[in-house]
Amino acid sequence: MATDALELSIVIPVYNEEPNLPEMIRRTLAACEAMKRSWEIILVDDGSTDRSVSLIEEASRNHPGRIIGVILTTNFGQHAAVTAGLAQSRGKYVVTLDADLQNPPEEIHKLVEKLEEGYDVVGSIRENRKDTIFRRLASKTVNMVVRKLTKGKVMTDYGCMLRGYSRPVVNAILNCREQGKFIPMLAMSFARRSVEVNVRHAERAAGESKYSIWKLIALQYDLLTGTSTFPLRMLTFFGFFIAFLGIVFGIVIFVMTRIYDKDWGANGVFTLFSIAFVFMGGQFAAMGLLGEYIGKIHLNARGRPQYFVEKVTGTSGEQSHNV
Ligand code: UDP
Ligand code: MG
Repeated sequence: MATDALELSIVIPVYNEEPNLPEMIRRTLAACEAMKRSWEIILVDDGSTDRSVSLIEEASRNHPGRIIGVILTTNFGQHAAVTAGLAQSRGKYVVTLDADLQNPPEEIHKLVEKLEEGYDVVGSIRENRKDTIFRRLASKTVNMVVRKLTKGKVMTDYGCMLRGYSRPVVNAILNCREQGKFIPMLAMSFARRSVEVNVRHAERAAGESKYSIWKLIALQYDLLTGTSTFPLRMLTFFGFFIAFLGIVFGIVIFVMTRIYDKDWGANGVFTLFSIAFVFMGGQFAAMGLLGEYIGKIHLNARGRPQYFVEKVTGTSGEQSHNV
């Protein structure tokens, strides 16, 4: 629900960020105060096992109405946590950022200014990105896939979670009930006007990346299956291509057996072998992909909520509800 009174909500997912929280909260508060607008900071604890929860509760006690803590029961993943924060947010504009201070809170105002100019979605480009090679490679592929999928609407850097959204886009995201949302891309598909700004990027202040290789792979699959039937269409092309190759092979065998003798290529046994392997490979790829879609259907058919909020702190009267 948007209230005219509140201009800006900042949504920050937190997963075991105890060493970063105090400085992050301090700098975000300072950045908000400097902006001369009404604001709230929503800290979503994504099932941290360290002291993050008590730090968030303490901050929301010290700044009632300005720092809101949303404590999830367990670890649902960054994008689910951000969604929980969006559901709690009331601002006309919403900015998301990471809790590890890789996105300097001092840059928030750049995004807010763009939102005020009337852009629905504001992305950010990380200037000299400070991440490991492995992490960069993973997000290069994410960016590549997303760019293919959201044709026409080009964004350079989808991995950077310092992003701004207008209220209608936030509401649209919240109305998508599907599992495994990739928020930046979902937002992009609803945006009328989007823009990117350059922001500084820092090294993770403390702790290490919360993305294991498995989480990254899961994210890629979410991206692929969550967006379009493009992969399925690719599969069809792939199938056609293999069939075409099969025909070409057939012709080659036919011609060669005419030119040389019938025994050419061990009577075609090896050619048949290679054809069979290509087909088998194709079938496996197809099954894997279909399996992904069926898994998604299964998840959505179950209709489970994407996350459960245990409690919301820092608002008047503590609430308990599920979304
Ligand atoms: N995060 C989360 N749940 C998770 C993993 C990460 O809420 O399961 C949060 C994390 O606390 C941080 C943000 O998402 O605020 C980005 O995570 P991280 O910095 O580990 O990712 P990276 O910078 O490597 O992309
Ligand atoms: Mg990070």
